[in-house]
Amino acid sequence: MIELILATANKHKAHEFSSLLDPTIFSVQVASENIDVEETGFTYSENAFIKAQAYYNKFKTPVLADDSGLNVDALPDELGIYSARFGGASLPQSEKNKLLLEKLKGISNRNAHFSCVLCFYLSPSEIFFFEGKVDGTIAFAESGTGGFGYDPLFHPTNFDDPKLSLAMIEDWKMKHSHRAVACQKATSFFKKRNCHS
Ligand code: IMP
Repeated sequence: MIELILATANKHKAHEFSSLLDPTIFSVQVASENIDVEETGFTYSENAFIKAQAYYNKFKTPVLADDSGLNVDALPDELGIYSARFGGASLPQSEKNKLLLEKLKGISNRNAHFSCVLCFYLSPSEIFFFEGKVDGTIAFAESGTGGFGYDPLFHPTNFDDPKLSLAMIEDWKMKHSHRAVACQKATSFFKKRNCHS
């Protein structure tokens, strides 16, 4: 069993992780104290590593950190690793969603994808990364009340009904999201690793 603390203050992410990670391999709990880590990296992997290392250095126990974001093809420099800071870090999410719709007004290319990189920082010599991605399009209005963040605007390409946003299909999200895919890769890696150790 790998006992991990989660390097996140985002309760939605923590909830997703506790459902996504195989409980026969991982036990996860939110860190007892949240650390304010400046995300100075230029990639999802760098930021996930920076967060994981900061929590490991403070708590001296294995850490799972992630960095994720929404990548919008028509706005290549605005979201991505900066998704949480889009429009300013303190702008409420509903306003970020409005701003995104505003910026995409008149733009026909609505293609986007969510990315997630997980960093399992077990010790300074055992650091593992896993990546997940889900493709979709940005809708013309918000719909749905589930999920969090940009979910009400994101319509996944691989879901049968193109009219439904991620905020309306939470069960599907738990199996196919960027975070779910990265967790599945991690689970299969650590299962094999346990067999060989
Ligand atoms: P992070 O906490 O630095 O990884 O920032 C993630 C940003 O991307 C936040 O603004 C989230 O709203 C957004 N984001 C990441 N994953 C999701 C998701 O699953 N659904 C909706 N928004 C997400």
